Amino acid sequence: MKIFALAGNPNCGKTTLFNALTGATAHVGNWPGVTVDKRDGVYKGGSEPVNIVDLPGIYSLSPYTPEEVISRNYILDEHPDGIINIVDATNLERNLYLTTQLLEIDVPVIVALNMMDEVEKAGDKIDAKALESVLGVPVVEISALKSKGIKQLMDRALAMSAQRKGTTVLKGVLDKQLETACAYYEADEVKSPLFHAVKLLESDEIELERKGAKDALEKASSGEDLEAVIADERYKYISTNLSSVKVKKADKGVLTKSDKIDRVLTHRVWAIPIFIVILFFVFHLTFSENLLFLNGFTEDMGWMPSLVDLGLATEEDGANNFGVEILAIFYDGTVYSPGVILTNFLNLFLDHISDGIVTLMENGGAAEWATGLVGDGILGGIFAVLGFLPQILTLFLFFSILEDTGYMARIAFVLDRIFRRFGLSGRAFMPMIMGFGCSVPAAVNTRTLADEKERTATIRVIPFFSCGAKLPILTAVAGGIVTAFGVGNADVITFGMYVLGICAAIVCVLLMRNTTLKGETPPFIMELPAYHLPLFKNLMIHLWDKTKHFVKKAFTIIFASTIIIWLFSHLSWNWHYLPDEGMQNSILASIGMLVQPIFTPLGFGSQLGQFGWVFAVAAITGLIAKENVIATFTTLALCIGAYAGNGTEEGIEELTGLITVITADSGISQGQFIAALIAFIAFNMTTIPCFAACATAKAELPKGQFKWTLLFWLAASYIVGAIIYTVGSWWWTLFIWVAVIAAVTALIVLRNLGKFDIISIFKRRKS
Ligand code: GDP
Ligand code: MG
Repeated sequence: MKIFALAGNPNCGKTTLFNALTGATAHVGNWPGVTVDKRDGVYKGGSEPVNIVDLPGIYSLSPYTPEEVISRNYILDEHPDGIINIVDATNLERNLYLTTQLLEIDVPVIVALNMMDEVEKAGDKIDAKALESVLGVPVVEISALKSKGIKQLMDRALAMSAQRKGTTVLKGVLDKQLETACAYYEADEVKSPLFHAVKLLESDEIELERKGAKDALEKASSGEDLEAVIADERYKYISTNLSSVKVKKADKGVLTKSDKIDRVLTHRVWAIPIFIVILFFVFHLTFSENLLFLNGFTEDMGWMPSLVDLGLATEEDGANNFGVEILAIFYDGTVYSPGVILTNFLNLFLDHISDGIVTLMENGGAAEWATGLVGDGILGGIFAVLGFLPQILTLFLFFSILEDTGYMARIAFVLDRIFRRFGLSGRAFMPMIMGFGCSVPAAVNTRTLADEKERTATIRVIPFFSCGAKLPILTAVAGGIVTAFGVGNADVITFGMYVLGICAAIVCVLLMRNTTLKGETPPFIMELPAYHLPLFKNLMIHLWDKTKHFVKKAFTIIFASTIIIWLFSHLSWNWHYLPDEGMQNSILASIGMLVQPIFTPLGFGSQLGQFGWVFAVAAITGLIAKENVIATFTTLALCIGAYAGNGTEEGIEELTGLITVITADSGISQGQFIAALIAFIAFNMTTIPCFAACATAKAELPKGQFKWTLLFWLAASYIVGAIIYTVGSWWWTLFIWVAVIAAVTALIVLRNLGKFDIISIFKRRKS
């Protein structure tokens, strides 16, 4: 089978074309650097099937970034039968810079002029025929997004002759130098001598590693530095030849729509406040139980009647009939946000299934333990986790829209200025944002960061950007606080926790970049992509991927974990079955009680009394998968609630039940418990992430850094949790923490100024 490689600048539509050609559903993002690895598929629409390889986006074939090295090595070493060079037609000058380099390789090249739909919309014209004669290779106009011109492109690609000698735009400029350099490669029968010769003249690092290359360069260039000359010539060639190719619409000075939007969205002062407001609305629409604050900002301002007030439901039995149950999906004293409505809808459905199965088992005379295992253990755990899927998807949908439109790229650009002060470049923003979805792809994406230390620091803080699996912890605990104590707004607490994670990340990066991971922050050059309307199909693909992943996890890892948790909470050390009332004597309880004191400084340890071990167990099971935290609560809370005589309902209410039981049992004050619960969320957000994320981090981190990273996560989560609990419970402890932090900062500053060296002081003492 023939192999064609897709090469082009970042964000020119390679992956979109790849998907259109192969029917694959690879991630398309309006973001440079989304495709870091190469990927392949088969195109079957032509006279013969061909293999298509999607290479990472690159601006040149010089080895400045990992992507460039991957793409260059692939083209030179794997000898594809042709290169499909995708060119963003809305940005010809920049894109053709890469084309001029690809043309130097001895391989058939075809240029796909992509985004022609945009060009036409803007009223511009591009003469493909003229471009074809300038470049000397076929040029086909396409729109990958609208699947236009794809068939023509592939037909012409398949018709290209297999042999092609490289050509260069430097002809007539550096003829003599090129001849000498080519001779050096031809003597060794190197393939694509012209390409290598030009790179050698550019003093390319990879070329210079070759034996005798330095001498050959010296001989060819006579010591002259030609790198800048060559880049200059390429641009000159492009601009002189392009005038005959491109016809711009007359109104040149007028700002495009993108430019106008950018004036506001990337404004020096307003960009960041606007971003924060947008983020807040995203969270509000996902989590709020008080849509647009229609029911007032605080409880006192509330004026909407609840279903009980309306006589449609009773405190004890809930809704009067099925109709009211449906109404309660949307409204109960407050109007719910879309995210909450979807959640309610799914939970109503899941509740009925779970009730049905349990009733069926009871009527069929199943043993008590079996009903418990299925109802509280398996169904309770899995459904509790699945119930959060709508909110995860809603949040994810908003992020996908922001990314697809090109807004996130702007934010990276805006944040670069600020990131730089913390020792990161704007490039680190993308992996961090991806972290809100899942830490695993986020850690892989850090490969776009050129500097190893910057990369290590970024990988370490990625888990602080709370992922989809941690979202249930946030929502459930925030919901628990609101319902159990009647304080606050769930979405404000949730938003606050996300912000807290971001702040923790900033502080930690700042700390690391000033101590163990000191180094230069590489410059960040990025092309701002044009604004696009997000494509419905793309959005659905993102959501479907997420759903698949989540559901699969629920029915594998979470399924297994809930069974184990339920079993160990209903078995004593001598393997006797314990009913719910006996749970305090179970294996799980005794293990939990053993580790419980560790968490005392964080507020969810010994002070929570005899049932407090549930928190310790939840924190630990979360190390396998973060969804387990809530699955654990649900499974255990259902049992504890049942026996403590506190009838708990399904859904978020389990945690409320548990909180009520613990408050009554341990006598802990409301303020302290709230601080502890928030510390619990923060601990889970900043501690060691799940198995999968750890494995990825280990693979992506430089050698020997993983153990320090684990230690870092443990220390960070413990300190963050302790600060929140102590300050939340006793405000004056703030002064102690401030003093400690100030002292540490002072030490670091002094050390970095070279005025104070802990290690040498130590050594002096010893001797
Ligand atoms: P890659 O980085 O080169 O892989 O680019 P992607 O395939 O991820 O696409 C980048 C952005 O360009 C996405 O928002 C696409 O929807 C958009 N895009 C791709 N092809 C076209 C096209 O032909 N027309 C328009 N208008 N947008 C496109
Ligand atoms: Mg891509």
